[in-house]
Amino acid sequence: MSETTETIFSKIIRKEIPADIVYEDDLCLAFKDIHPQAPVHLLLIPKKPIPKLAEATSEDHALMGHLLLIAKRIADEAGLSNGFRLVINNGDDGGQTVDHLHLHILGGRHMKWPPG
Ligand code: 5GP
Repeated sequence: MSETTETIFSKIIRKEIPADIVYEDDLCLAFKDIHPQAPVHLLLIPKKPIPKLAEATSEDHALMGHLLLIAKRIADEAGLSNGFRLVINNGDDGGQTVDHLHLHILGGRHMKWPPG
């Protein structure tokens, strides 16, 4: 793994800066995106500071599965029974701006394809 950098999400995990938290357990945290791109726009992050999906390893196997299952649960609890979209931006070409792995959970409107 590359050198782990401190990000704004580390501060949110430590509750040093406020966030509208919708879910938390020992492994992960979910909160509302500060610039929502849909009526529901949540971010789900592992507490382990993995900079991006490309730097996850086989050690993270169970954690990755946990994140997907929690994303499903959070979408359900947010009332997204008509569907939702999960997005992981990875690296520069992926449009990633915060170097702490995060899943976007988007819903509440019809999503277009292909993405921009
Ligand atoms: P990325 O572009 O890296 O995939 O997504 C980063 C996301 O984090 C963006 O959607 C952005 O709005 C969100 N974000 C950045 N800083 C903060 C913050 O301080 N609080 C919250 N709640 N969201 C943030």
